[in-house]
This record gives sequence, structure tokens and C-alpha cells, in this order.
Amino acid sequence: MSGFDSPDDKGNNPHRMLSLEEAIERSLAATPKLGGETISLNDAEGRFAASDARAKVSLPGFDNSAMDGYAVKSCDLKSATADSPVGLMCVGVIPAGTFPADSVASETCMKLYTGSPIPDGADAVIMQEDCRSTSGDGATILCNERVKPWENIRLKGEDVRKGDVVFTAGARITAGSIGLLAASGYDRVEVGRRPRVGLLATGSELTEPPRGLKPGKIYESNRAMLDSLVVRVNAEPTPYPIVPDSLDDTVAALEMAFAENDVVVTSGAVSVGDHDHVKPAIELLGGSVDFWKIAIKPGKPFVLGQVRGKPVFGLPGNPVSALVTYLMMVRPALLNMQGARGWRLAKRPGRLVDEMINRGDRRHFARVTIDDQGLVRSAGGQRSHMLGSLAKANGLVDLPPKSRLAKGERIEVIPIDQ
Ligand code: AMP
Ligand code: MG
Repeated sequence: MSGFDSPDDKGNNPHRMLSLEEAIERSLAATPKLGGETISLNDAEGRFAASDARAKVSLPGFDNSAMDGYAVKSCDLKSATADSPVGLMCVGVIPAGTFPADSVASETCMKLYTGSPIPDGADAVIMQEDCRSTSGDGATILCNERVKPWENIRLKGEDVRKGDVVFTAGARITAGSIGLLAASGYDRVEVGRRPRVGLLATGSELTEPPRGLKPGKIYESNRAMLDSLVVRVNAEPTPYPIVPDSLDDTVAALEMAFAENDVVVTSGAVSVGDHDHVKPAIELLGGSVDFWKIAIKPGKPFVLGQVRGKPVFGLPGNPVSALVTYLMMVRPALLNMQGARGWRLAKRPGRLVDEMINRGDRRHFARVTIDDQGLVRSAGGQRSHMLGSLAKANGLVDLPPKSRLAKGERIEVIPIDQ
């Protein structure tokens, strides 16, 4: 990467238009993995495993009962029916959490519960509902049903075997995998470190509450919006004060953000206007800049740079462009930094209620709503400053250049909240 006005020494013209795929590839290549940390399993949901984990025990850990009932020898009950039950002498009880010292001999049984270990000698469990006891003390049990060998028994290791890989590096830790890890003897797990993300907003027109709006000013909205997205991928956002359009202020703000974070995300000031100071500021800090136009709408100007090995993403200032370029370019990078295997955006199938047209020559990520039935509608105005339709939208539809998607067409929607 080098200056932004002329081809660099690799012959890249920083003004050329990149495909989205190439831009994502460059983003991923520019973001270093942060390494791992060991955390409590209780905090691990949604994080990404930094190493493989193997089961420390088999699941189940021993043969045990799937039912409340009696451990029996199945051959004893071959002739049992409701009209002609077979009586077995009950020789003991096995509460859950204990291990039976005695074994089951012919024509005897032991009472047990779901999860109780199976005593030696027994090869099946008859459900309590298929038995009754003859006397008050329950010593003789009348069995009304036959049982097959190993019926109602959960076998040691049938679910997971000790030493099995329960988890591979890069996998997302879900509630189910937390359950499996806990059952396998883990209370801590090694995961990719959370990227600390400094959020900067540039623009002398920007202000924030409790200040009132002076003529020509607008309320700043990108930091809070990006903050809400960044936490969805485990990153730790820190918003910094609004940066006025001056080179010195931009350099100072970037310097502070780089000192305290693993990655910096700016919005605004990445075009070619007189007040677009992000690129020169990165270079003044000794960093390098790659400036591209990505062939998507909204979100054409985009800066990828680095300062002392830390990446910086310069998003366009228009709120919709900032959101779309964040989702397309920054989100994968934040996941990559954590060692995540899956960084691609999820998609939901849907069907268009009205036709959608893209007359432009760039892919258009149009704001849509998708309902529970999968019906997809335009969320309204599609220009890149329009927050009204962005707030209404819950998805984006990728409209190819110069395309017309017909009413009723099956399409895929990219949910925004991911
Ligand atoms: P820029 O990319 O700096 O040329 O800004 C493009 C448009 O987005 C302008 O209308 C800005 O006022 C607006 N804008 C830039 N940054 C923000 C922000 N953080 N919040 C809201 N609007 C912004
Ligand atoms: Mg600006």
C-alpha cells in the first residue's frame, strides 16, 4: 500500500474500482489475528474457539438408565404379559449419584431412576409404569411387559467418546456447545481475543446532545450506529469525541484511537474533497493507505490503511453507506481478527412483493423489510443519506448491476442485525 494518488510499487492503482469480493479479501488480508485468551465458559457464548477441544470424559460416562424403573435380566421377562406377569424380587435401590455394589441375579431386580448406573448382571430396564409391587414393602415386583436386551439403557460413550474432538478452532461457541463443553469437564475455554475498536466520526457539521442544533449543524449518528453493530461480533467499541475537519485534529484523534485499540473505524472525510483528512492523517502517522472505490452502492469511497500494523477502516460519512460498508468490509475483518472460521453474512430466503430495479452499473444493496412469511418489500427511499428507510429496514437485497427483479421472484435477504 502507498500514497493515494498514483499507482503503488505493486502497480495497484488506488483509484480503481474493486469488486466487493476483492475488497473483502484485502480487508481480511490486512487484519492480523489477535491471539487467544482463556475465559469462563459462562462468558463464552458467541465467541470463537482458539484451539480444538477434546472431551475429557465419555458421555454418558457409564451405562445408565433412561427411565425410572427396575434393572433386570431381560431373559427373566421373556414370558411376561399383563395377564401373566413375572414376579422379581427387588434386592436394592440405586439412587442417582450412587454406584451399586450389588449385582442383579436371576429372578431379582433393583429399583433405579433416570441417570442411575446399571448394576452388574442387569441388561435392561423395565419402566416403572409396566410394573406393580405385590405388597406394601415393594419387595416383589410384578412385571407386565417383556424388555429387549439393552432396552432403556444409555450406553457409555454412545454420545461422545473420551478424546473425541468436541470443538475445532474457529468454531462459534453456541449454547449447545457450552452444554457439551461443560459436560465434558471444561469450566474454561480458549477463545480469540475481542478486538478493541476505536470509533471516530469526522465532520465540522457534526454535533451531539445536549447541544442544540446551530444553523448548518446535524446530530452525529454513525458512532452509536456502528457501536451497536460492532458489539454483535464480540468487539469492544470505544467512541471518541467528534473530530472537526482539520488535519491536526484528525491526526490527534487517530493517534489516540490507535494507542488504545486494535483497530480504528472512522466515518466521513474519505472522498477527494478539501476537507477529507483521513488519508493524509494516516500517512502523517507513518501509516499506509489503500484507497478504493468498491463497486457497490451505497458506499463507493472506502479507505483501508494501517498504522504500526493496526488496521484502520475509513467509511464514508453518509449513514447508510457507513452501515453497508461496515457490514460488507469491517464485520468480516473483526471476525477474522478473532480467528472465526465463518465470517460470511447469513442470508434468509424471501420473495419479492413488488419488482425491484437497479438501473446503475454497481451492485445495489437495497434496504428492504422481510416479514415472518419471507415477504420482501422495499423499505422506502434508497438514497444513502436516508435514515428513515434504514430504520424501517431489517435486511438488504443485493441487486446486480442493471437488473430488474420481478414481483414474486425468490431472492435472498441479508439481515442487517448480524
Ligand atoms: P463525508 O463522507 O464526510 O463527505 O460525509 C457525507 C455526508 O454524510 C455528509 O452529508 C455528512 O454531513 C454526513 N455525515 C458524515 N459523518 C456523519 C456522521 N457521523 N453522522 C451523521 N452524518 C454524517
Ligand atoms: Mg465530512
